[in-house]
Amino acid sequence: MITIALSKGRIFEETLPLLAAAGIVPAEDPESSRKLIIGTSRPDTRIIIVRASDVPTYVQYGAADLGVAGKDVLVEHGGEGLYQPLDLEIARCRMMVAVRGDFDYAGAVQSGARLRVATKYVQTAREHFAAKRMHVDLIKLYGSMELAPLVGLAEAIVDVVSSGNTLRANGLVPVEEIDAISARLIVNQAALKLKHAELQGILDTVRAAVAGRRGAS
Ligand code: AMP
Repeated sequence: MITIALSKGRIFEETLPLLAAAGIVPAEDPESSRKLIIGTSRPDTRIIIVRASDVPTYVQYGAADLGVAGKDVLVEHGGEGLYQPLDLEIARCRMMVAVRGDFDYAGAVQSGARLRVATKYVQTAREHFAAKRMHVDLIKLYGSMELAPLVGLAEAIVDVVSSGNTLRANGLVPVEEIDAISARLIVNQAALKLKHAELQGILDTVRAAVAGRRGAS
């Protein structure tokens, strides 16, 4: 049995055509069925539905052989026990530092002011500001980071930005790009040895589908 860990929403939807290339079509829509284990058109393959930030953990411990996770999530997880053989080039966004429109970020950086930074991405933020030799106080949040600068919890946030609409709607501006983000195929290292033929087959087909789509665009 091959188990693939996916999260609902954008990653699920954008992964479907790539899995379909390998003959893997889910038997149900997780949005409507609410099931957490979904069969597929291939009797030897099932999909489990987990929180995006939990996908690397299921794959790390071998509860899933394969998974799809954003680079943002993988950096926070650390990548232990995982192969990351393939950038699927889906769910693209950018990891950004953002502040209120009326906050002088460049001035604060230059003067060496100690900033409070609210984020779900603590590891990413820590590495970014350490590389800039900036002293920051990181405040861990689990969502709605955009609120933090508006109510005085922090001067800056680190968050993923796609269209920029959420920042704009809350009077925030992006001031620094940390990383370009996209979703990666991840594989349990032991499973790749034990189920080599099956997993390599899926990997090769998905890799060809990604390359084919790139060629078509
Ligand atoms: P935006 O299109 O910039 O308004 O994005 C709105 C929100 O959607 C962001 O604050 C993120 O929390 C989330 N988001 C957008 N794109 C992604 C992505 N590729 N991965 C994870 N979260 C995302």
